[in-house]
Amino acid sequence: MSSSNTGIEWTDKTWNPTTGCNKVSPGCLHCYAEALTERFPKSFQEGFKLTLHPDRLDQPGKWRTPSRIFVNSMSDLFHEDIPFEYLQEIFAIMRDTPWHVYQILTKRDKNLAKLAPQLEWAKNIWMGVSVENQRYVHRIDALRQVPATVRFLSCEPLLSELSLDLTGIHWVIVGGESGYQHRPIEPEWVRGILQQTRESETAFFFKQWGGHHSKAGGKLLDECTWSEMPSAWDEHLIEWQNQKISRHQKSSKIQSKDLITI
Ligand code: SF4
Repeated sequence: MSSSNTGIEWTDKTWNPTTGCNKVSPGCLHCYAEALTERFPKSFQEGFKLTLHPDRLDQPGKWRTPSRIFVNSMSDLFHEDIPFEYLQEIFAIMRDTPWHVYQILTKRDKNLAKLAPQLEWAKNIWMGVSVENQRYVHRIDALRQVPATVRFLSCEPLLSELSLDLTGIHWVIVGGESGYQHRPIEPEWVRGILQQTRESETAFFFKQWGGHHSKAGGKLLDECTWSEMPSAWDEHLIEWQNQKISRHQKSSKIQSKDLITI
């Protein structure tokens, strides 16, 4: 379970150079990553303890098709216990594999605000924060300061109505919670966020209503599906779809053994 294709609709692959985390806010209560580590203890021998996996750093270089890659679906890339040098290494790999788009999502806005100015934000890095209820909208202020090509919000699991300042935000993802202890989502909350995205020309992606399992409630909102992506994704595909990745990699730092073994 080190990395894989994924069922998450707004991405293509997950890449987990770290796994494990600890809970910071109500959105973490039924953490999917924690549940997965408990379900597959052989794959996660350290359990949900924060663990670095340097052996996975070369994975994206081996994936030749331009993809959207969700970084750390099983952790939080801005966790305080991740050494800064390791974080820099991850950012260097993202920079050196420019045919992919990397989607990073954090709940640790303070650490993001502290470290972002010291990192190199390549064009293919998208940055997001989770906002599950009104109490955590302040995370957006930290995000707004990050010089990422795309800044996005994940409002999942959505736990309250939200009044958002979407200045400088390119994309909002909304979803209800899944699982037997899922907390209910109200249609009015979703409609309210949709309306705010229409007023600010922000892309809107409604993932699911949630329920006992992720597909239980479907994803129709007033008879419509909403799967908008930031225009940066289409632009990225146009730029990379006809390029020979292998030729590019010859001049990249990660060329060497990684590509020869494909
Ligand atoms: S921050 Fe994310 S990975 Fe960490 S405990 Fe919360 S939901 Fe789970």
